[in-house]
Amino acid sequence: MMTETMQALRDLQKKLYAFQFALNVIDFDAQTVAPSESYSGRGEALEVLSSIKYSLIADPALPALLEKARGEERTEQEAAEVAELQRMYDETSKIPAQEYAAFVKLTTAAVNAWEKAKAASDFSLFAPYLEQIVAYRRRTAAYFDANKAPYDVWLDQYEKGLSMAQCDAFFDQLKAVIQPLVKEIGQRGAKIPCDFLKGTWPIEAQKMLSAAVMKLMGIDERHCVLSESEHPFTTEFYKGDVRITTHYHEDDMASNLYSVIHEGGHALYELHMADRLQYTCLSGGASMGLHESQSRLCENYLGRSLGFIKSLWPTLTELFPTQLAGVTPEAFYKAVNQCQPSLIRTEADEVTYCLHVMVRYELEKRLMDGSLAVKDLPAAWNAQMKELLGVDVPDDAHGVLQDIHWACGDLGYFPSYALGTAYGAQMMASMRKDLDVDALLEAGNWAPITGWLEERIWQYGKEKTPAQLLKNACGGEFDPKFYTDYLVEKYFAIYEL
Ligand SMILES: [Zn+2]
Repeated sequence: MMTETMQALRDLQKKLYAFQFALNVIDFDAQTVAPSESYSGRGEALEVLSSIKYSLIADPALPALLEKARGEERTEQEAAEVAELQRMYDETSKIPAQEYAAFVKLTTAAVNAWEKAKAASDFSLFAPYLEQIVAYRRRTAAYFDANKAPYDVWLDQYEKGLSMAQCDAFFDQLKAVIQPLVKEIGQRGAKIPCDFLKGTWPIEAQKMLSAAVMKLMGIDERHCVLSESEHPFTTEFYKGDVRITTHYHEDDMASNLYSVIHEGGHALYELHMADRLQYTCLSGGASMGLHESQSRLCENYLGRSLGFIKSLWPTLTELFPTQLAGVTPEAFYKAVNQCQPSLIRTEADEVTYCLHVMVRYELEKRLMDGSLAVKDLPAAWNAQMKELLGVDVPDDAHGVLQDIHWACGDLGYFPSYALGTAYGAQMMASMRKDLDVDALLEAGNWAPITGWLEERIWQYGKEKTPAQLLKNACGGEFDPKFYTDYLVEKYFAIYEL
């Protein structure tokens, strides 16, 4: 029998769920079908809804209720709910209500300004908003821990326990392998023929490919729908309704293919939460790094494998008979794995991807410690891209304005992509001990693979900590060497180094 205290906490969680559901619907709508000049009314609505949600979780009566629940007998799940609610209370109540709601309104306007700035490739249109966002993040970090550097506070918010010291060590370890590898590929690697990828790929056929890929991944279309947006993303309402988006380019089929697999990986995670966690605060991915580990694992370790491409080959050649005439699965595999330093993070190959993350990490560090002014950000961006990737940035749209994250207020999120990528490599090494992954992929049989992930990670939501889940899936402590070893092995083979 559930105690009265626990029942009251369940009621609160249901209310929080309902507000989050509404906020997510608004967000999904904004990014897919809402008209471009609708942000101001949306900002007003979001400000009101967010402040009600804030008052539910920052309720001064909540700590006593949580204390009472801790003194009563609870199941393991109830104990985890109490701990998560306490964490939410501690974090939310530190920010004054007005500032909390005002920030939601600010980021709504900032996203709109960013869209216009990107379309015009003019950073100055976005700069005033980013200045306010950076100032807010620097100021409010002190509410959490006045003795900590602001950027350390925010890194920890996205990935518990993460700090600049850890990121520096992690990125140094990656850089030491990736930079020489890129150089070696550039010097010795014969160019991989991939001109065929530049052809024209009718959107209708690409849409059929998206559906086929989702089916292959085991994504149930009765619970997950694919829409279109400028930037692919995933929104979860609950485990019975997850939305993913993609973007179609007629001259680039790989962009949609790998967006669908990436967002599909996020969706699979959300679709496989245990039923018992529904409508509680434990539903949802355990951390940003873990969420990205699942999407990047699907996109790269599964989706960019030869086995997967072989299994997809009958569909690909049926949908694109002229574009793929005379092309073999092996040639396609090499083409979608070509390593080439480029401008856009989301389109980057596996070798150079984390260098894009490092560019953002270095700049965020400097924005947050005050050593870089927002107005100087484009020049600093271009210099970092030159230093780490050796590329010249032609304009702001292909540079500092390419990602939506800063407009959303997310400073400290980017390292999650690199961490998630490295987590995923270690999970794959562990999975390979239990399953013949290549044979399963080639047979188009994803079920044992997704079952393996569901059993170790997906079902638990936030019930276990990211560290516990990583141990569940990897059998040991996190070690980035699994990732760098994977890159070296894969790319030495592709480029016959
Ligand atoms: Zn993602």
